[in-house]
Amino acid sequence: MSVLKSIVKPSELAALFKLKFSKQHNHANVLEILEHDTNMKFCFKTLDKVSRSFAAVIKQLPQELSISICLFYLILRALDSIEDDMELPNDKKIKLLLNFHKKNYENGWKLENVGDKAVYRDLLANYDLVIAAFSTLSPKYQKIITDACEKMGSGMADFVAREIVSLADYNLYCHHVAGIVGIGLSQIFAASEMENPEIQFQEELANSMGLFLQKTNIVRDYKEDIEENRSFWPKAIWSLYTSKLESFATFPGTATAMACLNHLINDALAHAIDCLDYLKQLKNEHVFKFCAIPQVMAIATLCEVYNNPQVFTKNVKIRKGYAAKLMLNTNSVLDVVKIYHHMAHAMEAMITQNTPKSIETLVLVQEIKKYCATEIALANTEPAF
Ligand code: CA
Repeated sequence: MSVLKSIVKPSELAALFKLKFSKQHNHANVLEILEHDTNMKFCFKTLDKVSRSFAAVIKQLPQELSISICLFYLILRALDSIEDDMELPNDKKIKLLLNFHKKNYENGWKLENVGDKAVYRDLLANYDLVIAAFSTLSPKYQKIITDACEKMGSGMADFVAREIVSLADYNLYCHHVAGIVGIGLSQIFAASEMENPEIQFQEELANSMGLFLQKTNIVRDYKEDIEENRSFWPKAIWSLYTSKLESFATFPGTATAMACLNHLINDALAHAIDCLDYLKQLKNEHVFKFCAIPQVMAIATLCEVYNNPQVFTKNVKIRKGYAAKLMLNTNSVLDVVKIYHHMAHAMEAMITQNTPKSIETLVLVQEIKKYCATEIALANTEPAF
């Protein structure tokens, strides 16, 4: 369906083909690993199934980083699968979340019938293979992964029976499930000695990198989460607009629903400049792409969901061809700055006097534009991508 949509846009179709072709080149170093290692073979296969977009950026990394980050991702995905299983009794769930980081050292440990989708159940049911692969990692990576896993598990456990009410709760929850990933990844980059060692000390910026992605997903996934009987929208914000969050799905596009949506988009947009500040510090081109591509997809998604009533009725996604084009155009900080400038400008153009929360949005997008314009002027090129 989305491929068909791209046919009317030749540049997007070309990008789709180019991406398909270049992906095969990226896979070369990973394919080599798979030939000899059945545990890693399972891990990379599962990675492809759980997240095609992350799989692509992980596989283009240098081999050592590719393996440790593939495992980091799968281990946290397994933890998240425990958190997301709404059939699991709370007491059992909390115990698993708190102890999960220890399981990575228990040979043969696996967990049957947990996970809300087949692919997650499969990951947990074969978790012994992940543990076997993890045991071959250098201890420096094992420690970073275990620390992050312990912090995330205890943060998730805190929120099992607790609602996300205040904005502080929202930021704390997002820190536990995403900020910690940004910080852990920065430590992995530094430990690999393939990246600027200073990056491990940029915890505030690394946290923002995670929060920007997480908040974008939380905003976009409104409908899917409501259907699953859960929500991550902070009550302190939505209660300003409605007494029942589910009512937005029944009456989408009302002025109050749109105001609430835009309010949360503004909250996410506030992290955008931190992300650019983080990306500016990276030196390795593959690490840069790994970090930058998800951020570019996030700002494109925010641009797509901004003031868009469809968020309340379906899962709004950016077109595949458009995503491919953005991916191929993300090679340097200047590229990212140009894309952010473009997205901020596109959002600004959607603002009218009647757009809810428009003044706050205007301030945010103009700040992003100003930052980007300064970077572009420094590089002495044109503000178009
Ligand atoms: Ca979750």
